Amino acid sequence: MADWTIDDAERLYRVKRWGGGYFEIGDNGNLHITPVPGNPQVRIDFKSVIEEMKQEGIQFPVVVRFHDILRSQVAELNQTFRNQIEEAEYQGKYMGVYPVKVNQMREVVEEIVDAGAPFDYGLEAGSKAELLTVLAFNTNESALTILNGYKDEEFMRLALLGRKLGRKIIVVVEKYSELLSLVRISKELEIDPIIGLRSKMTVKGRGKWESSGGDRAKFGLTIAEIINAARYLEQQGLAHTLKLLHFHIGSQLVDIRSVKDAVAEGGRIYAELRKMGVDLEFVDVGGGLGIDYDGTQSTSDSSRNYSMQEYVADVVYGMKEVCDLEGVPHPNLVSESGRAITAHHSCVVAQIVGEIKNSTVQFDTSEEEDEHVFVRNMRGLVSSLEEDGDNLQEIFNDASQWKEQAIDAFKLRVISLSELAKIETFYWQLMTYLHRKIKEVEFVPEELQELQYDLSSQYLCNFSVFQSAADTWAIDQVLPVVPLIRMNEKPTVNCSLVDITCDSDGKIDQFVGENGVADVLPIHPLKPGEDYFIGLFLTGAYQDVMGDMHNLFGRLNEVHIFSDDDDPEDFYIEEVVTGSSVSNVLSIMQYNPSAMAQDVKRIIDKHVAAGSIKPREGVKWTDFYEDCLHGYTYLKTSK
Ligand SMILES: *Cc1c(COP(=O)(O)O)cnc(C)c1O
Repeated sequence: MADWTIDDAERLYRVKRWGGGYFEIGDNGNLHITPVPGNPQVRIDFKSVIEEMKQEGIQFPVVVRFHDILRSQVAELNQTFRNQIEEAEYQGKYMGVYPVKVNQMREVVEEIVDAGAPFDYGLEAGSKAELLTVLAFNTNESALTILNGYKDEEFMRLALLGRKLGRKIIVVVEKYSELLSLVRISKELEIDPIIGLRSKMTVKGRGKWESSGGDRAKFGLTIAEIINAARYLEQQGLAHTLKLLHFHIGSQLVDIRSVKDAVAEGGRIYAELRKMGVDLEFVDVGGGLGIDYDGTQSTSDSSRNYSMQEYVADVVYGMKEVCDLEGVPHPNLVSESGRAITAHHSCVVAQIVGEIKNSTVQFDTSEEEDEHVFVRNMRGLVSSLEEDGDNLQEIFNDASQWKEQAIDAFKLRVISLSELAKIETFYWQLMTYLHRKIKEVEFVPEELQELQYDLSSQYLCNFSVFQSAADTWAIDQVLPVVPLIRMNEKPTVNCSLVDITCDSDGKIDQFVGENGVADVLPIHPLKPGEDYFIGLFLTGAYQDVMGDMHNLFGRLNEVHIFSDDDDPEDFYIEEVVTGSSVSNVLSIMQYNPSAMAQDVKRIIDKHVAAGSIKPREGVKWTDFYEDCLHGYTYLKTSK
């Protein structure tokens, strides 16, 4: 394999570009994880993780969580803000919060709270259920709790309960009427709230979430409403409770210019309000810090044209500049970065269970008497390739036309099924020939360029796009997919991935490619008897929690990995969380699995009584049905 190096693999899969420093291709061709940026000694070989999962009998697909990555990201964001604040001689502090909607899994929230404790890093909630969670989990009295989203009275009462418990809990008013009920309930309960106002921004973020900003944004107060709100609170003797100005112009901001613009606009509003005598202490810049999913470092929808460092610098220096010009104090800065904290920490490991390929089907094409002319034409085209095979476009045109005509002829009962099979076989032989030839020529006609895709394989992957990569289906999000092993071998198969749902949308055909996004993934030929694993990366933000049960494929088994420098493999599996069983998903859909098992048993018993099933067999079938009910929803691949 001298003609293929790890550098070639890196150029192809761009692991370093999207890996955020946590992933790289090892010399042995396996994917390696370096979860602690300051300590490259800690290096986990993904193959060892897979081996250990197999030994423990954990069925694939599996979500693998690297808790160290989560901790590293929390530290990195907080440390970056601290460093910039110090460098800029900024007078306020950074008091970030993690928005739990991005990944609400208890273990994730617990780990973030724990890693954030030294920084007084807080939590953000956007619904009543999330608020109930953060009330129980964000117990650090110095950290903020920020409440966004539409709120009813119960929500406000819960927030005031938080105040009673000594929490710095800030209710962000999204809609003017919320302010009125908040004031009324606070007076009734005699508890002072801490209030934030969300501003509707004129700046729109670019990218998939641009409608979070602008006049038609769903959330936020207009400038007039903000001024009225401040006046109203003053009249009510509650001016001292208005502490925070909030804005959020969308997730995955692809262009740093929208961040700069938003900070400039938000900074101005803050400064004017200060000058009007409103004693604001915090400016909350919302979420939006993007992830470079496709490794292009561009303004494509799955990328961003800036780094975390640059984002933080623009927030800190941008706010400082506005405040200094206006002569108002620097506010404490809050950000609600969720994607940037969680995306890297988890991935999905799935097994390739088969290959679907049209062009390799073999069918006997020997010549027969009174064959239809279409069959003869196609055979003639194939045999003329030797001396007359250079006019690629002409061969393509003839082959395509005859194939189409043959299908029509078949429908009109002019040619037989086996004749059509011959024509198909010849057609794919011709396309394979063309595909080989176009690699040698300089100019490739447009239609022939698509052959790359048409002739690629489909690798059947034991997972569900709808459960594990919802955004690749919903919004064409690119997620990096790479083999976890054999990257020291030249990948010779171009493929796209199809999942095991019976939905034709259940596929991935956008990949991180050498020159931007590609529609096929170069990957390795499957070896009989050998498992082949791929990893779907950067699934820790949103994907982990937004999946659905299409086709009743349920939640995945999960393993939680911690690094340990003293361990020979540098890691240990701290916890295994079992995914959904068939009976779990059926129960959610209102079935009663044990009643179903009884019903099936009763029917089997009847057959036994009637003699059509032997008693011994009947017991086996009954047990088998029950085992399947309690089993995993995905394909069983390991013996
Ligand atoms: C979704 C959301 C966030 C999180 O945004 P990310 O881009 O994931 O960091 C933050 N704040 C609000 C108000 C949100 O709705």
